[in-house]
Amino acid sequence: MLVHNLNDVRQLLDNAARAADRPPPRLLAVAKSQPAAAVAELAAAGQRAFGENYVQEAAARRTELATMGPAAAGLEWHLIGHLQSNKARDAAALFDWVQTVDRAKLVSALARHRRGDQLPLNVLIQVNIDDEASKHGCAPDAIAGLAREVAAAPALRLRGLMAIPAPSPEPGRRREAFHRMRACFDELQHARPHIDTLSMGMSDDFPLAIAEGATMVRIGTALFGARPGKWIDRARPVL
Ligand SMILES: *Cc1c(COP(=O)(O)O)cnc(C)c1O
Repeated sequence: MLVHNLNDVRQLLDNAARAADRPPPRLLAVAKSQPAAAVAELAAAGQRAFGENYVQEAAARRTELATMGPAAAGLEWHLIGHLQSNKARDAAALFDWVQTVDRAKLVSALARHRRGDQLPLNVLIQVNIDDEASKHGCAPDAIAGLAREVAAAPALRLRGLMAIPAPSPEPGRRREAFHRMRACFDELQHARPHIDTLSMGMSDDFPLAIAEGATMVRIGTALFGARPGKWIDRARPVL
């Protein structure tokens, strides 16, 4: 069942990329509030990269997956939820990527806690692209300074930028935010040519994000179905 969703989503990503004349983005499957069995099912179908919002939930799911055989082993784990500094130690141990680095204090905490026997932790800087007071992420003009801090830490590896634009019923507004993110990414890549990841786009707006140059999309609902308590307006898609 989930395998069909996975194939459908991959097809939609390919179509959107082709329409935009861009390479297909990487697919991050967002596992929040899904049972470990659902993750194992997608893993068995070939999906390797998974996103988690909460450190504790991630740890519990990992313990369960460890009992589920080889297909559920060796997956790539991304933290996409806000990270408090006091959870940095656990996050640095559990994840391959942290996509929500938005302040210098977090950079130093993650660098300090990444163990020497692990590969460097891949880092995306989260940008508050819509300047929402309630949201996490750094201001666009703070990107360069944070990038310098990440690049100076041998335990971390700067890979690019991530954003969650403000929910807006107007696709034009959303697309404009993605466009501004792409400009930030291009500017950072000009200074640091090795960065390769612009993470933006979710179930209801990924075609817009791909059109503006997302290299990774984070998809939950379209893969797993609606989370409990989440309302989706299927009659009014963004496109
Ligand atoms: C939940 C979540 C997603 C996936 O959202 P869907 O609409 O279910 O695809 C992507 N990114 C972040 C940061 C999330 O919290």
